[in-house]
Amino acid sequence: MITPIEATNTYFQRAAQLLGLDAITIRQLIIPFREVKVECDIIKDDGSLAIFIGYRVQHDNSRGPMKGGIRFHPSVDIDEVNALAQLMTWKTAVVNLPYGGAKGGVSCDPRTLSKGELQRLTRVFTQKVHDLIGPAIDIPAPDMGTNAQTMAWIMDEYSKFHGYSPAVVTGKPLELGGSEGRDAATGRGLLYAAESLFADNHVKLSSLTYAIQGFGNVGSWAARLLYAEGAKIVAISDVTGAIRNPNGIDIPSLTEYVKQNGGIQGFTGGEAFPLEDLLFEPCDVVIPAALGGVLTAENAGRVQARFVLEAANHPTDPEADAILQQKGVILLPDIYANAGGVTVSYFEWTQNLQQFHWNAERVNKELRHIMQNAYKDIREVQTKYQCDLRTAAFALAIDRVSRATMLRGL
Ligand code: NAD
Repeated sequence: MITPIEATNTYFQRAAQLLGLDAITIRQLIIPFREVKVECDIIKDDGSLAIFIGYRVQHDNSRGPMKGGIRFHPSVDIDEVNALAQLMTWKTAVVNLPYGGAKGGVSCDPRTLSKGELQRLTRVFTQKVHDLIGPAIDIPAPDMGTNAQTMAWIMDEYSKFHGYSPAVVTGKPLELGGSEGRDAATGRGLLYAAESLFADNHVKLSSLTYAIQGFGNVGSWAARLLYAEGAKIVAISDVTGAIRNPNGIDIPSLTEYVKQNGGIQGFTGGEAFPLEDLLFEPCDVVIPAALGGVLTAENAGRVQARFVLEAANHPTDPEADAILQQKGVILLPDIYANAGGVTVSYFEWTQNLQQFHWNAERVNKELRHIMQNAYKDIREVQTKYQCDLRTAAFALAIDRVSRATMLRGL
C-alpha cells in the first residue's frame, strides 16, 4: 500500500516537473524545516505511569508562520505527520494565506483516556514543544482526536511560559477567542469550492445528486449546507453504517437522529447498505469526508460519479487519481477543497492578534471570497499547463512557496 508521504511526494514531483524546478529547489522544498519527537509521560488516574510519543513536523515557513493540526490517534507516526505537514504548506499557499505548513500529533488512543489524563497529556506535550511554537512561529489547531477543549489547554499551558497568548492556537472555544463559523468552516469552504466548480462546468448545484462518506465535522456540515442549497443527498455513511435513498435523504432529520443515537445505523429515512460501497453509488458527486487512502487502484474504476470533491485529506492514491482522470471524472483536490478550515483558522488568528471579534456574516463572506479567488487562480494555472486540477493546485502552491523562498534568500 502506498503511504501518505509517497502519495504527497508523487503529486509534488508531478507539479514540480511541470514548473521546471531544478533538483536543488525540489530538495529544498521537500525537506521539512524541523522534525521534533518528544516523550510525553503522564501519571494515569490509577497511579500508573504511561509513556506516549509526540511529534511536531514544521515543513516550511517561507510564506509565514507554520500552521497545522494536532492529531491524537494510535496511527500517528513520523511518516503520516510528515505527509500532512507538507500538505499544509501547499494548502495554505493554494488559498494564499500568509502561512507555511506544519502538523503534529501524539500516538495514543484518546477514547481510552479520561478527561483528566487527556488534559495532562496535552499539557506535557505543550511543555515539550512550547519554545518551538508561537503566534509568529507555528500555530497548532485541532485535528482527529483533538478539539476546542484541547486547544484551550494548549493555550493555557503555553501562556504560563509566554504570557497570555490566544493566537498560539486556533479552533479554540468562542469564550477564549475562537472564531464564529470555525465549526462549519471546512464544510462551508467545500460548498463555496463546489459552487465555483459547478458554475465553471455549467451545472447547477441543486440539480445534482451526492454521496458523502463520513458524517463527522466535515461530512455533516457539507451535507447540511448542500441540503440547504437544494442539493439531493442520495447516500451517506459513517463508521456505524450507510444509508441510501434515491429520492434524497432528509439531512435535518438525520442530524437529529445521529445526535441522539451516536451514528447513522438504524436511521429509517433510507435503505441500509454496506458502508464499503458508498463511494461507488450511482450519483453525480462523490464526497469522501472521512479517511485517507479510500480511493485506490483496486476500486477507483467503480466510481460512477462525474465529480469527486476531496473533503478528507489524501483520500485518493496516485494510481486511483490516474484511473479517475482516464474516466473523465473531475476531481477537486484536498489541498483546495478542504482549505475552508485553515482559512477560518487564519481569521481566528487575525482576530486574536487584533483583539477584535468578527461576526459570522463577515467570516462567511471573507471565506467565500478566498475560496472563489483560489479557484480562479487554480484554473489559470490549469489553462497554462493543460493539466488536471490537482496538478494545477500543487503547481500554484509550489510556485508561490518557491518564489517566497528565493526572495528571502539564504
Ligand atoms: P470527524 O472525526 O469529525 O469525522 C469523521 C467521520 O468519518 C465520522 O462520521 C466517522 O464515523 C466517519 N468514518 C470513520 N470511518 C469510516 C468509514 N470506514 N466509512 C465511513 N465513515 C467513516 O473528522 P472530521 O474533522 O470530519 O475530518 C474528516 C476528514 O476531513 C479527515 O480526513 C480530516 O483530516 C479532514 N479535514 C478536516 C478538517 C476539519 O476542519 N475538521 C479540515 C480539513 C480536512
